[in-house]
Amino acid sequence: MNIILFGPPGAGKGTQADNIVRLFNLKKISTGDLLRNEIKNNTELGQKIKSIIDVGSLVSDKIIDNLIIKILSDIKFHNRLLFDGYPRNLNQAKNLDLLIKNYNQKIFCVFSLNVRKDLLVKRILGRQTCMKCGKIFNVYFNPASSNHVCDPQYLTKRSDDNERTIFNRFETYSKETLPILDYYKKLNLLHEINGNAEIDDIFKEICDIIGSLEG
Ligand code: AMP
Repeated sequence: MNIILFGPPGAGKGTQADNIVRLFNLKKISTGDLLRNEIKNNTELGQKIKSIIDVGSLVSDKIIDNLIIKILSDIKFHNRLLFDGYPRNLNQAKNLDLLIKNYNQKIFCVFSLNVRKDLLVKRILGRQTCMKCGKIFNVYFNPASSNHVCDPQYLTKRSDDNERTIFNRFETYSKETLPILDYYKKLNLLHEINGNAEIDDIFKEICDIIGSLEG
């Protein structure tokens, strides 16, 4: 099953994505992670991407489509992808439909995590990612402690997780990403989730819906 996880910055998509792929043996595709990898490699393209991410805008569809094609065309992940943070605008959503058809696959469902704005800000400002194991923590809600085996020196903050960039990221989300919701609603694929709840409760709601769709 291919699943799309949708929600504003700080909604907890990455955390839920990790839970879902573990339980259902899927492959997580986070376009944000793929772009940050490109930045880490310090290529010319990486530097261009960093300047866009750091102001809270969207990277061009062409760059994103190239990343996605590589994965959708890989037979290893046929019909077992979890998209986190993709598609990000209507153009990407329509292109994904075309690619999915071309590679003889299907979108199983789309989850939208709805979260209060004050909570989103706190989740973004408190977010920490381990550079070694990739786990995501939050200094307010889910601090790294016995649940993390790596040295604390590997815990980092994302360069776009600051008060200055948050505002633009919310704006970009409202203008460019939100219209996708209607698109998937019309296709009867959309499931709205209460993303204000605790991590385990959100995960349970998601699993219950997947179970009901499978049954
Ligand atoms: P994320 O890790 O999903 O929060 O994404 C971080 C940043 O990467 C976003 O604010 C965008 O600048 C960029 N980005 C991630 N995914 C996409 C996408 N599908 N299309 C365009 N830009 C993206």
